[in-house]
Amino acid sequence: MPLEFLKRRGTPDTPATPAEAPQPQRPGGSITLPEEVIAQEYQLKLYYAGKSTEGVRMRTGPKAMAELPAMLHGYTRSEIEVVDPLPIEFSQATPVISRPSEAMQWLNAHHVHSPVTRHALVVLESIDAIDLAFDTFVCALLDGEVDTSGYPEYSAVVGGVASHWDESTGDMIVRAVVGWGGKGVRGDTDRIGSRLLSGLLTNILANQYALGLTAVERPVPAGGRGGLVCAHCGFASAHERAFYCPKCGMRMLRG
Ligand SMILES: [Zn+2]
Repeated sequence: MPLEFLKRRGTPDTPATPAEAPQPQRPGGSITLPEEVIAQEYQLKLYYAGKSTEGVRMRTGPKAMAELPAMLHGYTRSEIEVVDPLPIEFSQATPVISRPSEAMQWLNAHHVHSPVTRHALVVLESIDAIDLAFDTFVCALLDGEVDTSGYPEYSAVVGGVASHWDESTGDMIVRAVVGWGGKGVRGDTDRIGSRLLSGLLTNILANQYALGLTAVERPVPAGGRGGLVCAHCGFASAHERAFYCPKCGMRMLRG
């Protein structure tokens, strides 16, 4: 095999190491390994944390979903945003930039949201406190500040309520969820998070449709094959065991 590319070395167009180029000076003697290697140290400590309450069972009705933003009343420092469960085409969405395919799905799903909501999703999805395969997430800045670009500082607390449908009864289950974190940690954030969490839970329980605390486990999203499409709202679920549509809460029809 002719190594044509090697012949180009040294041609007038691309002089690689012409003979007249000065050779690097080499002091005499052998190169010895120093006794101690001096290393430049680099590190980044990211700290994400969050809290979630037990679920509150809600009597469902056509207005059940519309009640969710009101449960943040008295605790918001920004606009409230509602993040719907993700349909099947976003089932691999992950906020990890070194996984381009998953990261692209995540960006395509969430670029429309505010910096506060995107930060909340990064924190709460990273620590597995919410799962958009079945959760509806209602979110705002709850405490602390945002930077000049609108992104929450590491000590800011974000969150609100997350709801999903109980697969056995079709009831809506709502829980309070808060999170914080980034390139730092402050001593009093945990306490502030706890206070906000109990305030949000009080709001949830005060809702006219609330039936009380329940110990229902969150659904387990399986595989990602999905395949169920809601006959009522057209939502294609990534949650293949979904008995109730993760988005509108109506009964899913099995093929
Ligand atoms: Zn639906």
